[in-house]
Amino acid sequence: MTHYDTIIIGGGPAGMMAAISSSYYGQKTLLIEKNRRLGKKLAGTGGGRCNVTNNGTLDDLLAGIPGNGRFLYSVFSQFDNHDIINFFEENGVALKVEDHGRVFPKTDKSKTIIGALEAKIHELGGSVLTNTEVVSVKKIDDLFHIKSAEAEFTSDKLIVTTGGKSYPSTGSTGFGHDIARHFKLEVTDLEAAESPLLTDFPHKALQGISLDDVTLSYGKHVITHDLLFTHFGLSGPAALRLSSFVSGGEIAELDFLPQTSEQDLLSYFTENREKSVKNALRGLVPERVAEFFATDYPEKIKQLSPAQSQELVDKLKKMPIKITGKMSLAKSFVTKGGVDLKEINPKTLESKKVPGLHFAGEVLDINAHTGGFNITSALCTGWVAGSLHY
Ligand SMILES: Cc1cc2nc3c(=O)[nH]c(=O)nc-3n(C[C@H](O)[C@H](O)[C@H](O)COP(=O)(O)OP(=O)(O)OC[C@H]3O[C@@H](n4cnc5c(N)ncnc54)[C@H](O)[C@@H]3O)c2cc1C
Repeated sequence: MTHYDTIIIGGGPAGMMAAISSSYYGQKTLLIEKNRRLGKKLAGTGGGRCNVTNNGTLDDLLAGIPGNGRFLYSVFSQFDNHDIINFFEENGVALKVEDHGRVFPKTDKSKTIIGALEAKIHELGGSVLTNTEVVSVKKIDDLFHIKSAEAEFTSDKLIVTTGGKSYPSTGSTGFGHDIARHFKLEVTDLEAAESPLLTDFPHKALQGISLDDVTLSYGKHVITHDLLFTHFGLSGPAALRLSSFVSGGEIAELDFLPQTSEQDLLSYFTENREKSVKNALRGLVPERVAEFFATDYPEKIKQLSPAQSQELVDKLKKMPIKITGKMSLAKSFVTKGGVDLKEINPKTLESKKVPGLHFAGEVLDINAHTGGFNITSALCTGWVAGSLHY
């Protein structure tokens, strides 16, 4: 039975960063991952390009982490998004910032990020065991006993970074919550967050179109961000963010042109009255959206009655979309709920009840918006959980 100072279960961003800091602090460290490769979920973020962090201010970070972000004050005072950026740049990964502060590797490839994290673990002397599923964890006297089907390890410190319960095909099946319960720690209710929306909007015509910085609103909840039409409804950051405020049955409104007033649109139609409706709309919205709207009207702008012009403006500025439901937890991007933060010391991420037991990443009751905020939370909590606190 091999003994380690620190064992980490789960090789997502939280676990990889925990392995780096633990090794950096001179701990004999083992990271165990059940998939063949590290970072399967991370690899799929940002459309496969890896949205590694967000370069906003501390206030931006807290706004981007609506699920208990304030618990992370102490974590961010030790390691924050700017430390993530420095970390990658110091380790040979060039980064770039895109809209809404989203940070990506310049290569646009997730493997650049995952490769850099893995290389750093090895450079610092940490060990990684993939293809190994942990099936049980026990604490006997002061030692954790960690068992897979084929092996058993012991450690003084255990860091659980097994993720939430969303997208279980990436490996996050909730095992960490079972470990918490085994040690009699509270786990809050698990719910879907950042869920794609099911709608009755005519999907087929618009499926696959993505819109930059449109406004999707429901009542007082007004979100301006990118939006994606899918075969079932709406996805993309605007829809995912609205999902916390709707459950199904609501009528949301979509403003395709939040920067343009209704009056400006009516003037635009007057200026372009000789054009076909389709061509005039092409100057405002993507081609397929223009075609979709134009089918309901006479050919030329000048043939539109005042009522039809106003109707077209209304469709562009406040298109009603009935929300019929949301995707389930398994098909949502993030899990709300997790190990109850009351159980956890915010400076060290150690369990208050079980010395040596630490949690980091989405297994905790912390949830954030996509756009790099969950990954920031995972990498920063991972660093802190792996650190030694003197
Ligand atoms: C499609 C998609 C897109 C996303 N886009 C973004 C985005 O743009 N920005 C953002 O901030 N967030 C995004 N997220 C969320 C983000 O990816 C997660 O919050 C983040 O990966 C959580 O990191 P983690 O290390 O806590 O857990 P995970 O990345 O889930 O890693 C947990 C690991 O633990 C392993 N594991 C579990 N049980 C065991 C066991 N018993 N033994 C061994 N290993 C085990 C799993 O195999 C897994 O590899 C997205 C999520 C999805 C699904």
